[in-house]
Amino acid sequence: MGRTSKDKRDVYYRLAKENGWRARSAFKLLQLDEEFQLFQGVTRAVDLCAAPGSWSQVLSQKIGGQGSGHVVAVDLQAMAPLPGVLQIQGDITQLSTATEIIQHFDGCPADLVVCDGAPDVTGLHDVDEYMQAQLLLAALNIATHVLKPGGCFVAKIFRGRDVTLIYSQLRVFFSSVLCAKPRSSRNSSIEAFAVCKGYDPPDGFLPDLTKPLLDHSYDPDFNQLDGPTRIIVPFVTCGDLSAYDSDRSYPLDLEDGSEYKYTPPTQPPISPPYQEACALKKKGQLAKEISPQDCPMSTVDMLPQ
Ligand code: SAM
Repeated sequence: MGRTSKDKRDVYYRLAKENGWRARSAFKLLQLDEEFQLFQGVTRAVDLCAAPGSWSQVLSQKIGGQGSGHVVAVDLQAMAPLPGVLQIQGDITQLSTATEIIQHFDGCPADLVVCDGAPDVTGLHDVDEYMQAQLLLAALNIATHVLKPGGCFVAKIFRGRDVTLIYSQLRVFFSSVLCAKPRSSRNSSIEAFAVCKGYDPPDGFLPDLTKPLLDHSYDPDFNQLDGPTRIIVPFVTCGDLSAYDSDRSYPLDLEDGSEYKYTPPTQPPISPPYQEACALKKKGQLAKEISPQDCPMSTVDMLPQ
């Protein structure tokens, strides 16, 4: 597979590079904004789980007019700098990170909090959905400290079995909650985005960081809401129908038939976790894990039991 094959299979990946976005995710936020006018009147925003930074790029370009807005970007991973974006490297489920973010908005709250956080998926769907929900709840907890009344919260969700519980929790804090699927998000993915508008916490609600951000107890009965507590939120797809379909492959000469020219990534990863393994592989020093199937019988007997 050549380096252009991903350009062919994933049109949004290719367009991201050609348009100078650090990741194809930029189109998801742009398509959500097209539908919900997320950036209207926004001057201060928080981008949680921001690396490599395409949502921060969009935010810094779109809010506050001519980049005069204020964006705080947070991620576990280091992110290459972006003009007008203040970066915090940390885990959003940790108190220390939450406190650092909140300090930046002390006395001057944010209009918009976005979170595109995703755990490293394991393939065990229940575990992945649970981890994703914990990220969303950590983001919501931070949002309750920094959002101004009427503010907006947008977060990635996995539409799994217990998603109605998340909607119900979000409805406690926002006057409108819906679930949106931008066209650039693959149909084959359970990813969607909760779009919550009109921050309006219950009377007497006091944001509280002393409660653990991560709640490890999981009660399956508690997570099944019925009757009036079961909230079904509207599901909206967004991105014009004429927009590219993220599940299709497109020929490389998309528009005018002119000759295809490869574009390298806008911002290569600055310290990817696989860097060391690649260096070792180049030198032929990468140890190969030995599995019993790979070994002749005599060697299997010598493996530690
Ligand atoms: N919106 C980003 C963009 O446009 O470039 C892409 C975000 S990427 C899909 C998901 C990010 O979530 C990863 O960079 C990952 O490091 C981050 N992440 C996952 N768990 C996190 C956590 N607990 N705290 C902070 N960041 C986290």
